[in-house]
Amino acid sequence: MKAMHFNDSLYRHILDHVNEGVYFVDTHRTILYWNKGAERISGYTAQEVVGSSCADNILVHINEHGEELCHGFCPMLLTMGDTKDRRADVYLHHKDGHRIPVSVHVTPLVDERGAVMGCVETFHITPAAVDPRYVEGLEKAAMLDPLTQIANRRFLEMKISSCFEEFRRYNIPFGLIFADIDHFKSINDTFGHRAGDDVLKMTARTLTQNVRMTDLVGRWGGEEFLVIVTHLNLLNTERLAGKLRRLVEKSFLSTQSAVVRITMTLGVTLVRTNDAPESLLERVDSLMYAGKEQGRNRVVAGT
Ligand code: GH3
Ligand code: MG
Ligand code: MG
Repeated sequence: MKAMHFNDSLYRHILDHVNEGVYFVDTHRTILYWNKGAERISGYTAQEVVGSSCADNILVHINEHGEELCHGFCPMLLTMGDTKDRRADVYLHHKDGHRIPVSVHVTPLVDERGAVMGCVETFHITPAAVDPRYVEGLEKAAMLDPLTQIANRRFLEMKISSCFEEFRRYNIPFGLIFADIDHFKSINDTFGHRAGDDVLKMTARTLTQNVRMTDLVGRWGGEEFLVIVTHLNLLNTERLAGKLRRLVEKSFLSTQSAVVRITMTLGVTLVRTNDAPESLLERVDSLMYAGKEQGRNRVVAGT
């Protein structure tokens, strides 16, 4: 069989047809190549990122504690130091502002003499992203919030009723996380209602992309979101709320003139034997409110 001749453009073509995000950086962590998969996952085109340093506030990878990796334990820097492959679960900044959970794999690029030239990172979204068929289904049933494209209050109320049903019949517990954006009115006043809407979309995406498939995130009202959590005890639900709080705090929206950041205050509670939907919702709301009184941008859990 005749050997195929590979040239640069053929390699590029192949890499652009890989489903994963793929990019290369040199030893200064300047991005030299960015494939179509990386464009799709991050929202940034090759034109926007090639030539800039990945530590330049583009992807700003953070870990689940909200710590930025660029200035500390950057997996690429470590890999270029010891030439070992690395895997990590991190959260990248999407161009629309929200945080996306990705699994990254970093491999060193070494020349014939063994000198490090840079490294390659491949990445994919960690859990299955929200299934578009699920969104379509909600829309058909008039249970989709049109602005944020997540479940609306009616769907949340229905789901809470069915969780109560399962709790009474089979003793399957569940919990609620009630999240309210801090000082949202001043976001509208400072940056305009349009930017406010974009912040709501960004927040909805960060929340939905960072819970498990079995949890439900919906928009309860204006700048309030509710997460219905199953199969977790209070401590783990509180941990989940803490992770969501940090990821939202580290989400940012770039408008033409400003970078918009927000924080949230979250109440966390689990269902009790004597609860009705009203008492459960009142409790989680007052826990959230206690967090507002304590200074906002925090999680308050209670039983
Ligand atoms: P706090 O920290 O106490 O929660 O203060 P806050 O400003 O977030 O609370 P408040 O309830 O006073 O304000 C909520 C604001 O949310 C007021 C309202 O104009 C705004 N809002 C509600 N729905 C929407 C929406 O769909 N889009 C936009 N842009 N703003 C909205
Ligand atoms: Mg509110
Ligand atoms: Mg608020």
